[in-house]
Amino acid sequence: MSSIQNDLTMDNWLGRTFDCTCGQKHEVPIRHIVIERGAMEQLAGYVKEAGYSHVTLVADGRTQQAAGEKLRGLLEAERVHVSVSVIRVNTLGEVAADEEAIVQVLLDTPLSSQALVAVGAGTVHDIVRFVSHRTKRPFLSVPTAPSVDGFASVGAPLIVRGFKQTIPACAPEAIFADLALLAEAPQAMVAAGLGDMLGKHTSLADWSLGRVLLGEHYCELSARLTQEAVELCTAHLDEIAQRTDLGMRKLMEGLILSGLSMLLVGHSRPASGAEHHLSHYWEMVLLQQRRRALLHGAKVGVATVLMAQRYQALLGLTASEAAARLAQSAVPSEQSDAVRIRQAYGDMAEQVIAENFPADGQGLDARELKARIAERWGDVQAIARAVPAPEQLSAWLEAVQGPVTPEQLGVEPELLEASLQDALFVRNRFTILRLQRLL
Ligand SMILES: [Zn+2]
Ligand SMILES: [Zn+2]
Repeated sequence: MSSIQNDLTMDNWLGRTFDCTCGQKHEVPIRHIVIERGAMEQLAGYVKEAGYSHVTLVADGRTQQAAGEKLRGLLEAERVHVSVSVIRVNTLGEVAADEEAIVQVLLDTPLSSQALVAVGAGTVHDIVRFVSHRTKRPFLSVPTAPSVDGFASVGAPLIVRGFKQTIPACAPEAIFADLALLAEAPQAMVAAGLGDMLGKHTSLADWSLGRVLLGEHYCELSARLTQEAVELCTAHLDEIAQRTDLGMRKLMEGLILSGLSMLLVGHSRPASGAEHHLSHYWEMVLLQQRRRALLHGAKVGVATVLMAQRYQALLGLTASEAAARLAQSAVPSEQSDAVRIRQAYGDMAEQVIAENFPADGQGLDARELKARIAERWGDVQAIARAVPAPEQLSAWLEAVQGPVTPEQLGVEPELLEASLQDALFVRNRFTILRLQRLL
C-alpha cells in the first residue's frame, strides 16, 4: 500500500489522483479546505488568487444575514464584483432544492460570473452544486452549520415535480468552514450533523454485507476514512455537545471526511445504507402529504438506532437457527416485489421498479443468496458485532439533544411500520433491511 493510503490526514488527499489497492483510480477534485475561526476572511484572498473577478453568492434569507453580507463586503474590498442570489422560500415557508430554486439561481447568475459561492447548509449546497455543474462554473463552499456530510460530495438530491432524486453534479473547488459561523448554528443542526455521522456505523456494515454476500466492490481506504470520520466525532462528543471550537471543528472534519470517502469511490455506498433509505422514505411521504420537511441528519440519526437494533438481533441467532429461518422464509421474486412497490409507492412506483430491476437484468436469485447467508453466517455476525449497541447510539444522540425515537422526530407509528416494510426498495443496494426479510 502506498504512503498516501496510510496517512489519513485530510490535506493529503486534496487535488490528488491515484491508483488504489481496490483496483480503482481515485480522484479528489477539492483543492483547498480551511476549518478555523476567520475562514471567511480567507475566501476573498482565494478568489483573488484564483483570478475570479466576478462571483455570485447564493444564500437563503437567514444565511445571507449570518454570513452572506459579510462575505460580500470582504470580496468587494478585494475589488471582486459580487452578484447575490437569496433563494426564496416555497409555499411551506421552506427553502427546497427544487426546480424553482434552481431556475432562480440560474436567473440571478450573470453570464460574466466566473464562480458560485454557496453560503448555507445542505439545501443551498445542493442547489449550487447542480447549477455549478450544469453551467460549468466552479463553486466554493461556506458551510453555515455542521449539519450534513454533503458539503464535499458530488451528488445533488433534488426535488423535481415533487419527487426526490439524486442527480450527479460536482464537488466544491474549496471549502471555507468558519468556526465563528458554525458556533452560531442552531442546536438542532449540530445534532443533525452528529446524526448523519452516526449513520456511518450502519452504512459501513451494510456495505460489508454487500461485499461478503454479493461480492460487491469494496474500497478499504474509503471504508477506513469513513470509520475514522465517525470516530473523530464520538471521541469528541462532550466537546460537540458543549459546542466548543474543538467540538465544532471535529464534527466538521468528520462530515467533510465522510464526503471525501464518497468522492473517492464515486458513489454514496460508504456513507449511505438502510438508515438513509428509511430517512428518504419518510421524506418522500412528508413531501407527498405536503408536510414540513425534517432535517436530514435528524432522520438519519433516529433511523440508525432502528437499524442498529436489527443488527443486534442477528447476534442472538446461532448458525443453525439462521439456517432454519432461511429455509422457511418466503422467497421474494421480481413479480412479488413489483406488487409491493406498486402498493407502497403510488405515483413513484414505476421509477422505483426501474431502480430495483434494471433493464440489464442484474436481479438476484434469492435462493442462492439465502444459501450464501447461511454459509457466511459467521461473517455476518462479525459485521453485526462491529455496529455499536442501539443504547450507545441513543445516548450519543441524547448528549447533543437530538431526537432519538421516531415519536420525538414526528414520524407516526403507521409511517414507521410502512417504512420498515418498504424502504428497502428506495435503492437497489443490499442492506440490513434486505437481509432481515430473508430471515
Ligand atoms: Zn446523510
Ligand atoms: Zn479504493
